[in-house]
Amino acid sequence: MSLIDAHQWQGDTIDTDICIVGSGPAGASLAQALGHLDLDIAMVESGQIVDDPVANALNELEIRSNFSYRDRRGARHRQLGGTARRWVGRCIPFSFDAERDQAWGPLASILPTYYAQAAALLGAPEADHTGRDANGDVLAFWADRTARFATPPRVTRASLRCFTGLTLTGEAVLDGRRLRAFRFQTHGRRELTIRARRFVLALGTLENSRMLLLLERQFPSHGPEGLGRVGRFMMDHPRIHHGDIEAPVGLAAYEQRIEAGLVRKRGFAGDGASVRVYGNVLRHLGIAERLLQRLPLNRYQASSVRLIARERGWLRAGANELRKRGVADAAVARFFNRTHSTRFTLMSYCEQRPRIDNRVVLDDSGDALGLPRLRLHNHLHYEELEAVQDFYAQLTQRLASAGCTLRYDPRMLESPACYTDASHPLGGTRYAVNRNEAVLEGDLRVIGLDNLHVTGGSVFPTGGIENPTHLIVALSCYLAGVLATHCGEASL
Ligand SMILES: Cc1cc2nc3c(=O)[nH]c(=O)nc-3n(C[C@H](O)[C@H](O)[C@H](O)COP(=O)(O)OP(=O)(O)OC[C@H]3O[C@@H](n4cnc5c(N)ncnc54)[C@H](O)[C@@H]3O)c2cc1C
Repeated sequence: MSLIDAHQWQGDTIDTDICIVGSGPAGASLAQALGHLDLDIAMVESGQIVDDPVANALNELEIRSNFSYRDRRGARHRQLGGTARRWVGRCIPFSFDAERDQAWGPLASILPTYYAQAAALLGAPEADHTGRDANGDVLAFWADRTARFATPPRVTRASLRCFTGLTLTGEAVLDGRRLRAFRFQTHGRRELTIRARRFVLALGTLENSRMLLLLERQFPSHGPEGLGRVGRFMMDHPRIHHGDIEAPVGLAAYEQRIEAGLVRKRGFAGDGASVRVYGNVLRHLGIAERLLQRLPLNRYQASSVRLIARERGWLRAGANELRKRGVADAAVARFFNRTHSTRFTLMSYCEQRPRIDNRVVLDDSGDALGLPRLRLHNHLHYEELEAVQDFYAQLTQRLASAGCTLRYDPRMLESPACYTDASHPLGGTRYAVNRNEAVLEGDLRVIGLDNLHVTGGSVFPTGGIENPTHLIVALSCYLAGVLATHCGEASL
């Protein structure tokens, strides 16, 4: 594996078997899952190894929504490892529902076969792979940040070159149904061309749509069929932090806990209506606890290992001994597993059903590289707000039967203005079993093109309520399988 800063690269053309654009969970997992094959892979990343404000400024977009977005850049981050560099996080395997997730077609039964591989790539091989427990509660696990994407993917056989500081401009060379080359720019605006036998867009939800919209703009009349539907059916998981729970008996089962070496958490699922809702119980924290919470468990564990590795002599031996006995870890575990709390708050996330009017379009204003920016239109619908209200009503009864009280103001739930995004943009370049509503084929290829694939949250035809990265990684593992079957064929 070689890591190359594109500013230092002398040539103006790169030839490769597979060009993966984007190094976030989607791109990095794909590269790693292809790593055992005899292939030349170029992975291209707009950001750098360290946080680069110039690259991140390229994410500016306009948002028009009836709920609020916390990050005006659409909750994405340009750096090696992608947006996953911004969180230490919760993963929930997507639980497919025969009715609500019909649009996934055969992928609904294929993708779960990649869940174990996805969990291992996320650094949590022991994770639960269904996302639900026997009661139907949502089961989350926390992935280990250090085992994830901050470092380039590990490959055993493939030759992997990872270029940083190189941004896809969307400009392409098409030859009938085949994409011959894509053009890139360094942030110093030097141009570079990549020719590949297959290309994969793994740019994150919004940027995948933007690049395909630019491709459509370049080939307006005779462009590939699927491109006409790019940018539609955008979704997120609008969330509301509202509701106090008085639980004299505690809610230990729904608090963060360490089980079998992994941080895990249960949440309430509102599965009754056509729109799914997920309720996450949070402990009311005192000031000292809030300060402690700012030190996430995984980061604490990783930094303690690093710290000990740097030390020498008796200090190292002593620290290792404490680690082996699990003294420090046990103290942290006790902190998370305390059961004496009686007061909790509720953070709920709702599904957005796919709607054609929730979409991204190209704007007239340009970014620093001269590319049109995006405008996102995403509105919460009354159907979703009603589902949240039903969920609160049902949860009130469920908690009451367990001796707990949920207090909330129903007017808060009715107003979209009380909701914020969950940093989970989805849709825009979807696969759907109904081809009239799809951009991609079942092998994640753009309809009408032989060798341009897409992976990431933009592929999702429905969004469920699960945090998306686990399914994104599973999708990339599936795509690796698709590409592997072409491996060795002349048509790769
Ligand atoms: C604050 C926050 C908290 C989150 N918490 C969770 C959580 O707890 N659980 C969860 O599952 N998800 C969470 N998410 C969402 C999660 O980050 C995304 O689902 C995930 O990162 C998507 O992976 P991706 O590889 O598709 O896209 P990204 O991670 O966005 O990676 C895309 C990569 O492509 C690069 N790129 C973009 N455009 C170009 C271009 N033109 N040329 C070259 N490269 C380009 C970007 O620089 C980036 O590195 C959170 C997000 C945020 C912002």
